[in-house]
Amino acid sequence: MQSDAAPVEQVIVTPEQVRELAAIVGRENVIAARQELLVYECDAYTLEKNLPGVVVLPASTEEVADVVKVCARHKLPIIPRGAGTSLSGAVLAVTGGVMISVTRMSRVLNVDARNRRALVEAGCVNAWVTVAAKPHGLLFAPDPSSQSACTIGGNVATNSGGPHTLKYGVTTNHVLGYEMVLPDGEIVWLGTTPDGGEDVDGYDLRGAAIGCEGMFGVVTRILVRLIRGPQAFRTLLGVFESVDDASQTVSDIIAAGIVPGALEMMDTLITQAIEAAYHFGFPLDAGAVLIVELDGLNAGLDAQAERVIALCKKNAAREVRLAQSEQQRADLWKCRKRAFGAIGRLSPNFVTQDGVVPRSRLPDIMRFIRATSERHGLRIPNVFHAGDGNIHPLILFDERVPGQTRAAVAAGNEILEKCIELGGSVTGEHGIGVEKMDFMTQQFAPADLEAMQTLRRVFDPELRCNPHKMFPSGKRCGDFQMKKQIAS
Ligand SMILES: Cc1cc2nc3c(=O)[nH]c(=O)nc-3n(C[C@H](O)[C@H](O)[C@H](O)COP(=O)(O)OP(=O)(O)OC[C@H]3O[C@@H](n4cnc5c(N)ncnc54)[C@H](O)[C@@H]3O)c2cc1C
Repeated sequence: MQSDAAPVEQVIVTPEQVRELAAIVGRENVIAARQELLVYECDAYTLEKNLPGVVVLPASTEEVADVVKVCARHKLPIIPRGAGTSLSGAVLAVTGGVMISVTRMSRVLNVDARNRRALVEAGCVNAWVTVAAKPHGLLFAPDPSSQSACTIGGNVATNSGGPHTLKYGVTTNHVLGYEMVLPDGEIVWLGTTPDGGEDVDGYDLRGAAIGCEGMFGVVTRILVRLIRGPQAFRTLLGVFESVDDASQTVSDIIAAGIVPGALEMMDTLITQAIEAAYHFGFPLDAGAVLIVELDGLNAGLDAQAERVIALCKKNAAREVRLAQSEQQRADLWKCRKRAFGAIGRLSPNFVTQDGVVPRSRLPDIMRFIRATSERHGLRIPNVFHAGDGNIHPLILFDERVPGQTRAAVAAGNEILEKCIELGGSVTGEHGIGVEKMDFMTQQFAPADLEAMQTLRRVFDPELRCNPHKMFPSGKRCGDFQMKKQIAS
């Protein structure tokens, strides 16, 4: 879908403008040398690349605001950046411009255990919030598999989910309020303030800007909700002959009125790769494995676990293992959360897709993925949040083999089109970025897209904040990296 694009005009950041930015954040916190900018040429979606004109690393909200004001004066695009783990090209500097990296703003400012909330800076790594909250028996529930690297600012901008989203909800359910620097440099606070009560009057602008993919402003501080950690867990590993049997089990568990904390599926290829990397003891010949985590009060969990085991067996599970210790549980989660990393053993390149189907259509989409894999001659392992119907096919390819990059992109597009056809959506959690913007017209009517643009203009009338994302423009990056690869 992305091949006939015209190049986007590149915005030049002049040496004088770089000096103005350096005067705000210090020369050592400005990156302008070409070889150093290469680090910022893409995020975890590596098919498209383009250099920002300059990267600035402010240390406070005030510095962010001053940087943004300089950009406003010179009409420069701004691209907010957290850890750069986006899998949809959401941080790509399509027009060049000024990338604002918040990684120096990474503190947990306070944990208010009594009111179960914490105030953090936008560059705070997701997992650090729970580390800070743990001594109080609390945790931050959204747990993207990238949580040891991704930032809370990035989570807010993409409304991140994770394995435990099924029971606990996504980022928007755990953010009370946040501070944001608008594209003209004004500092606003949306939602509950750190010294405010739980409720705010008026429109829920907090909710409106969560998931805006960095197009409304730069988030600088966030007031997050903390929850009490579950008293106990029962973590089960179901081993199945086929993905169909595992998918049926997912539907049966939910139909039985059980809401596990997490319900994750992995197919043969990915299980083999994970086993080779982390030696957990996964069976190498299983068609699929299910991780079912039940959590809550200890009383009643055994009964739920027995019910889940019975449902697995009803669907011909070969074996169901119950984690016998906290260490075993932690090892199992380590394997699941590092699954993408294990792919390096299988292939030099891969694209991670992210789509959603109604849970009942999981067998259909998995069959379609298998057929797509055969049609294109590419291996496609799957590891995904089955309880949400949120699939993650990992399309393996080798960019050195002529035609494989093109085939991988085509396979991904076909899978996403099928998700729409099955009543789902083209993203469950990774966002639209540049990767999926051409799908927006398939999912939304022109009037819907215009309504979204109207909201965007309220925050960013000049459309300078993270431009050329989410809405199809028919234009792509200046260096034609994508075109080169797809043409190969
Ligand atoms: C191995 C792996 C596993 C992953 N697993 C999951 C998962 O389970 N669930 C999930 O939802 N995602 C997952 N992701 C995707 C990604 O980690 C999330 O989208 C994450 O929230 C991005 O955070 P980041 O700090 O890396 O943001 P970046 O990648 O730097 O930015 C992402 C977007 O947020 C914007 N942004 C970043 N910081 C700010 C800010 N301070 N103010 C305004 N806008 C900002 C950027 O402009 C961009 O549009 C995974 C990625 C990888 C590589």
